Amino acid sequence: MLNFQYYWEECGSFLQDQWNSVCELFGSDFALAVWGSFIVTTLFYWTVGSCYTFFHLTGKPKFMQKYSIHDTNTVPFSQVWKVIPQMIMNQLLIIPSGIIFYYLMVWRGYDSGKTLPSFQRVFFELVIHTFVNEIVFYYTHRILHRPTLYKYIHKRHHEWTVPIAISAIYSHPIEHILSNVLIFVPSFLILGSHMSVVWLWTCMAISFTLNTHSGINFPFTPLSPEFHDYHHIK
Ligand SMILES: [Zn+2]
Ligand SMILES: [Zn+2]
Repeated sequence: MLNFQYYWEECGSFLQDQWNSVCELFGSDFALAVWGSFIVTTLFYWTVGSCYTFFHLTGKPKFMQKYSIHDTNTVPFSQVWKVIPQMIMNQLLIIPSGIIFYYLMVWRGYDSGKTLPSFQRVFFELVIHTFVNEIVFYYTHRILHRPTLYKYIHKRHHEWTVPIAISAIYSHPIEHILSNVLIFVPSFLILGSHMSVVWLWTCMAISFTLNTHSGINFPFTPLSPEFHDYHHIK
């Protein structure tokens, strides 16, 4: 028990040191919220997304094929390349969204302290974020399937009848803002989350959505891509 307490505290002080360096690097709460969030989410998306894309393009490493639920494991490079400009444009929209998000958080009064929240607080917030995001995503996605909105907006995301991981944010910019960016705001505003939790939760949500679109059913992962694959086909 004592050992556990020791490692718990050591881990906490290591993370606090890293966070102090990050705060120093960005210099202000505004830069941390806007530029930090943009850099962290974009880098995370492309780093993890590139690993999936390597598999989608080459079918390698071979052992991953047994987890794939798709009939064919490779996608032509031209198909992937065609969608990249739209995805980059969508990611750039995170910058103006981040500015609005920052001022909303300041207006609400958020935890902008230099001290990281406790593990218990982080765990509690992750549960609330999961719950609120699921509800908000369900309703925004449902609205996007109304005939007019589907035809002009959501249809683009469904062009991929057999999606791949990085096609997760291949969508009309309005859908991207509504369904991939704004859905995070309600729970962050409810809880007034610390920026470290904002980054942690958005990176977790990015890994979920990449996996959901990847067609790879890893063992022990909470979400299976089968349901979303079926949604894309239909
Ligand atoms: Zn849909
Ligand atoms: Zn999708």
